[in-house]
Formats: sequence, C-alpha cells, structure tokens
Amino acid sequence: MAGRDAAMTDTTDPSLVSWVESAHDPATDFPIQNLPFGVFRRAGTEEVPRVGVAIGDQVLDLCACLGEGLMGDLADTPAALACASPSLNPLMGLGRAQWTMLRRQVSRVLRAGGTPTRYDRERAERILLPQAEAELFVPAEIGDYTDFYASIAHATHVGALFRPDNPLLPNYKWVPIGYHGRASSVVASGTPVRRPSGQRKGPADDAPSFGPSRSLDYELEIGAFVGPGNALGTRVAIDEAEAHVFGLVLLNDWSARDLQAWEYQPLGPFLAKSFATTVSPWVVTLEALEPFRVPAAPRPAGDPAPLPYLTSVVDQARGGFAITVEVWLRTARMREAGAPAVRLTRGAFADMYWTVAQLLAHHASNGCNLRPGDLLGSGTISGEPRDARGCLLEITARGAEPLALPGGETRAFLEDGDEVILRGLCERDGATRIGFGECRGIVTAAERSTPAGGMATI
Ligand code: MN
Repeated sequence: MAGRDAAMTDTTDPSLVSWVESAHDPATDFPIQNLPFGVFRRAGTEEVPRVGVAIGDQVLDLCACLGEGLMGDLADTPAALACASPSLNPLMGLGRAQWTMLRRQVSRVLRAGGTPTRYDRERAERILLPQAEAELFVPAEIGDYTDFYASIAHATHVGALFRPDNPLLPNYKWVPIGYHGRASSVVASGTPVRRPSGQRKGPADDAPSFGPSRSLDYELEIGAFVGPGNALGTRVAIDEAEAHVFGLVLLNDWSARDLQAWEYQPLGPFLAKSFATTVSPWVVTLEALEPFRVPAAPRPAGDPAPLPYLTSVVDQARGGFAITVEVWLRTARMREAGAPAVRLTRGAFADMYWTVAQLLAHHASNGCNLRPGDLLGSGTISGEPRDARGCLLEITARGAEPLALPGGETRAFLEDGDEVILRGLCERDGATRIGFGECRGIVTAAERSTPAGGMATI
C-alpha cells in the first residue's frame, strides 16, 4: 500500500473501523487496533470464566464466537479452543504464529464490512457484553512471579534514601536485578488491598514491634506475561526473548516500606511485598504495541555495554515500548466530596535501563525454566522529575516531604480508604491511540489484633 507506515501491520492500520460504535470514542483505550485479551464472565453469575477481547466499552466473547461459527479457518484449531479456557495459559503456550492468526480473525470479526460478515445487530449483541456487566479476572494462572528493578532512576533514588553514601550498587549496570515475588497474592484490578502488618523498626527504635504498616506504598510497573517459555536447563537467546512474551499489563507492586527497610537485608524483599500485587485485566499484545516500538534507552557515556548474552542489534534498535504510564490517587475524603482522582505521576516506560527482552533472557540465562502465564514485573518506572516518580517513597523522600493534595490533605504514604489507579497509554502521529485500561485498588484497614493475641477480621 503506497505511503503506508512501515511499522503498521494489517491489524494496527489506523484506517480500520469497527462496527462496535464505542470503539470509535477518541477516549477509548480499546479501539479495533488494540484487541487485548482477558478472562471474564457475566458479573453476578457462576459461569465458567472464558477468554474475551476488549473492544470499546464492550467485551467480545471469543468462546461465543466459536459457537456462532465466527472463527472461520481457525475453528477446531488450538488457538480457537484455547478461548474456552478459564485462563489465558493455553493460548499463551501456543506461541506467536497462533496468537497472530487469532488476532487477525478477531480483527476480521470486529471490522465493519469485514469477513465473515452479514452482521445484524441481533447477532452482534449475542457475542458482546458491556464491560460494566463483566467480572474480570487475573488473566492467567500465574505459576511464578518475578519482579525486576529496571529503572535506574528508581534504583538511584531508593538507594540514596536507604544508603546515602552508596546509592547505586556496583552490579546495577551489569546485571538486571530482581527478586522472586509471590504468585498467590497477585489479584485482579478492583480487589481491595488490606494494609499488611509486620515487623517495623525505625532508626530510633531499639527493637522492632509488630503492627500495621505505617508506610504503605504503591509501585507503578508494567508486567509481562510469558508465552511458551523454555525447558529447564536451557537458555533463551536475546533475539528469541520476545517470542516468549505474550503481552503486557499494568502492575502495582504494593510495598510496605517500614517492613521492607527492616527485613530486606541480606536476601531482598519478602513480606513487605507478598501481601498483594494488582494487575490490570487486559493483556495488550506485542502485535498491538508494534507501532509504539522505540530503541532501547541509550546508556549514558561511560556506562558498560551489556554483556553479549544481553546484547542484540534488534533489541537495541527496537527493544523499548513508548508507553506513558500514570498514577492517580483518590482518597476517601475526595470520594465523599465527589472530587475526581488526582494524577500523581506521569512516566515513560521507554526510559527503562533494561528492555523486556533483556529481563527475560537474563531470567532464563541460568537455565531457569519460564512457563506460560509466568509474570515478570519491570520494577518501579521512575524518571528524574518529582512528578515522574513511580512510588511515594521517592516522591516524598521516605515521608520527609509529604505531598499536598487538592482539598488540603497531605500524604507521606497511603492511608486507609485511598484508591490507587494506574493507567497506561500509547500515542504517536500516524497510529491509533491505544491504552491499557486501569489497574485499581483501594487500601482497607489492617486486620486487628485481639487482646488474646489472636486475629480478628474487621
Ligand atoms: Mn516492584
């Protein structure tokens, strides 16, 4: 096609139009060029969850598409059958060729004047469900969850708070730092997050005490869901790494900073982070992100080049993703007053020191097996300016410089009733804007100790 943008594939072409009207709303995160996958059922029912695709303010039921004969040549293929699963794991395990075929078919089904067609309104309504009437789940059964630390600005800011004379440890520019997170406590967007209790010990305290965290924080991150993965004992070459990434979500790595400061040495985060991690429900595929690929962030002069197993011409040229990521906060008082959420942060995922491919290749570099549905967190996404920092620890300098909110409240860390909302969006000239939807959670009060020392639920 003459003049066509080289980065465009047929499913991201801005000229595509859907018969779903809300997909044309300029504010929607889910135009026909996005087509993120998720797992849903009708809210208030005990239906078996199944695979759907977000389109405008609706969910396209891919299981129903199969029943309606809309899968075309894909009927009876593993990709189509995987849509009847209550998680995305079977689809994630199939690999990019199958993902692309399914995406193309979904795009055809949703395309105005597309094939197979002869859509009438009635038929369309049978396979669409308003998102407002859908219950959305964590999109995969997560066997393992690993969280990285890929923003050098975040690592430097946090290092300076905990180790003023030695903020950035000497390994940082050589090895992607991570820790093994807890898969069991990864929760769907909208799940309330109970304030954790644990051992807290301030610098002036002689001994720790046990009680509710006084420094509860969020972390603005992107999560990558693993596709086929690798067998135990084998590595993944850097140039093959993206073949093992099904797609990206928003991720909030809730963190109790007081618990973290006391427990983190020498083995890293443990109970400070394993009480909850929230993910957004819609997995945005790499195909949808194709128009928003950018070079890996350039390393400052004097920094070491990555070792060869983390170096690839292709990854350096297009290993980044131009995703703008945001944190919004709405306190209980703001909700009661009918005031809107306030934006605390606007950051750039493209600024990360390590690319997604480098994180995945490094993870498998010792022969560790990655499996379909495993989740890799990027680490907090931060930039230099205060309003580009991805957690309150950095914004408030560990609580020393509280943040002033509209309405007169201040925050050093999160209070009970605070709602944290993460958003992500991609936009550039010549491409259709796409977004990640939302990753939400409201902080609720800690579990209360009873006089007998046991625990009672509030
Ligand atoms: Mn984190």
